[in-house]
Amino acid sequence: MAFALHINMERCTGCNACVVACPVNALELSVTDPVTDEKIYKVKNGRAVVLDVNHELCAGCGVCVLACPFDVIRLAGPWDSNYKSLAVGLE
Ligand code: SF4
Ligand code: SF4
Repeated sequence: MAFALHINMERCTGCNACVVACPVNALELSVTDPVTDEKIYKVKNGRAVVLDVNHELCAGCGVCVLACPFDVIRLAGPWDSNYKSLAVGLE
């Protein structure tokens, strides 16, 4: 099964609460040089804030959604390997 996390990086503050809360370490927050990193979602104080999700590890538990103090994470799924929704009412 697969889950999708949508993180509104316009509003993400890079506080790291979701990363700490995730029980399977599926989230990684990095602050990088905006000149050298291609995955720039947000620049704060001249540096880029990048939040990556490892979809192989994500169990879809929703803990990160609850942990985010700014309510910027949305969780969708699960889907099977053909990306057909398995959730009741979402087919
Ligand atoms: S849904 Fe659960 S497993 Fe997936 S990234 Fe969030 S806290 Fe981690
Ligand atoms: S908890 Fe929310 S605001 Fe904080 S780093 Fe995660 S997504 Fe961004």
